[in-house]
Amino acid sequence: MNISATYAGKLIHHCGGENRGCGGAILKGEPIMRGVWYYRKFRNQINWHFECYYDQAKAYLEANPFVDKHRGGVGPPRLDLTLAQRRRRKSIQVQGSTIRRRMKEAVSMKLPGWEDRLKTLNTSYNKLAAEIKEIGGVPRKWYS
Ligand SMILES: [Zn+2]
Repeated sequence: MNISATYAGKLIHHCGGENRGCGGAILKGEPIMRGVWYYRKFRNQINWHFECYYDQAKAYLEANPFVDKHRGGVGPPRLDLTLAQRRRRKSIQVQGSTIRRRMKEAVSMKLPGWEDRLKTLNTSYNKLAAEIKEIGGVPRKWYS
């Protein structure tokens, strides 16, 4: 929605939409906040008194508090770990991806003794999973 401040060019019958506003009339020439958006090629707009816009925006923000999603760049927020833990976690992730690749190879190639090999790989994978759980949790991508 595009929001702008302007004046009411004519009498506006309703302030706000869907209970977001006082619902009263806005007189010609009064300052208003106007939200405009397009839906399926149709132009839609909502007009508010200045005060009503402030009130509904504040209510909306209070209902949807600030969530810190990023650390300034791309990706999830940093885990709260020491440098040594960070390095260990990275190392486990690399080992884990190696094991996943070897498991895939074992299943697809089915060389002699592949089932035993898969079991061995699975054991070490679970060990790694248990360790990484302690330092920052198991990544979503990992098999469980
Ligand atoms: Zn109003």
